[in-house]
Amino acid sequence: MTDRKNVRPTAELQAADLAHHLHPFTDHTELAGEGGPRIITHGEGVWLWDSEGRRLLDGMAGLWCVNIGYGRPELGEVARRQMDRLAYYNTFFKTSHEPVVELSERLAGLLPDGLDHVFFANSGSEANDTAVRLVRNYWARHGQPERHVIISRRHAYHGSTILAASLGGMASMHDIPGIPVPGIVHAEPPYSWEAGADLDDPEFGARAADAVEEAILRAGADSVAAFIGEPVMGAGGVIVPPPGYWKRVQEICDRYGILLICDEVICGFGRMGEWFGAQSYAIRPDVMTMAKGLSSGYQPISAVAINARVAEPLLDRVGRFPHGFTYSGHPVAAAVALENLDIMARENLLGHVRVTAAPALQTGLATLRDHPLVGEVRGAGLVAALELTADKASRRPFDPAGSVATRVRDLCFERGLVTRAVREGLVFAPPLVISQDEVGELVTILKSCLDDVWAAL
Ligand code: PMP
Repeated sequence: MTDRKNVRPTAELQAADLAHHLHPFTDHTELAGEGGPRIITHGEGVWLWDSEGRRLLDGMAGLWCVNIGYGRPELGEVARRQMDRLAYYNTFFKTSHEPVVELSERLAGLLPDGLDHVFFANSGSEANDTAVRLVRNYWARHGQPERHVIISRRHAYHGSTILAASLGGMASMHDIPGIPVPGIVHAEPPYSWEAGADLDDPEFGARAADAVEEAILRAGADSVAAFIGEPVMGAGGVIVPPPGYWKRVQEICDRYGILLICDEVICGFGRMGEWFGAQSYAIRPDVMTMAKGLSSGYQPISAVAINARVAEPLLDRVGRFPHGFTYSGHPVAAAVALENLDIMARENLLGHVRVTAAPALQTGLATLRDHPLVGEVRGAGLVAALELTADKASRRPFDPAGSVATRVRDLCFERGLVTRAVREGLVFAPPLVISQDEVGELVTILKSCLDDVWAAL
């Protein structure tokens, strides 16, 4: 194990960070007011340590990505071996290398039937950009270039490039001029809490799916290329699809001949207890985007899988798809991803999620259902959310909106639990390796924070 101590003192690192480092999604005045960022030094399993020696239970698996947990020495060994052998080569000009060949083959074996070809990128955002170029390419090669519109959903998160931010449906992501770019239409999400419906009401499921059809008709069905959606919306607040939702969305896409893109950046690689969320919801995607759990965050790598229909213009027709990244299929990232998938299979992490971790998390959080601050507890597999409310009957948010969730989140942090606030909610997505006892610790800390914030209100 390498040295876990920083070379420089915390205060010095914080000052240098404030002076030079721009953080994603961060209010830098707030960060400066707090004296700078927390400095994380190392991790082990579901646990993180900061430079002050404090231990944190990572209820978010980093950013929903460290599926196999922290501190796996095998991955470092694989990376070093691959770097020594071939640290880099591209796959552009009729070349390939063993790690990328093996990873493509492995993924084709794990993916739902029909998804047989894989394109690599570095991030979820790039994977979604790639997916949009692929489906637009498909329609253009079929003589229908006017079919370019992508239907996405309000509250969705699909990444931070200009296109991925446009696919996303969070108002705050569209605050920068020029976003969303043209050609994206947002449908209402299947968000029962917000819609005043019951979480498991099939009638709401049908209504929510019909919102996708409404968006298609609004755009003009002949101009729609694809629908993109996460099986369970993650960063948008863990929005769990009501019964019947996906079946009907699939039928709608089929009826209009629209391609279906599943964004599996969060749901993929075990989080739902299957390799992919599409399997949990019997979705038949034409295109699937993946990242995060593909390497458990140990290396930046993402992928886009396509079925024969979308691959046909690429494979069977003359001409090339003008798209790719310097690091598409990076050999070190691919080797690390392979080892990560080996670990997941060897340790039967899918089984662990299904049998132990997910039931523990969902039943543990369900015990907080009657807490005076909690309006709803929902989840699927190993993601979950608590929806907080100022009034359970009317589902009224707090004033100012989100303030209480942020307070609970900050207190959790102080007490050694990482969670994330989304609107009025708190979301959870721990590493898949989390044990029953660790889930117990998570729930205990969370409850103490809810209690104390409630008492202080
Ligand atoms: N899609 C989904 C569903 C995501 O959750 C994220 C990241 N949170 C992305 C895409 C973007 O991935 P990246 O940050 O790697 O670009």
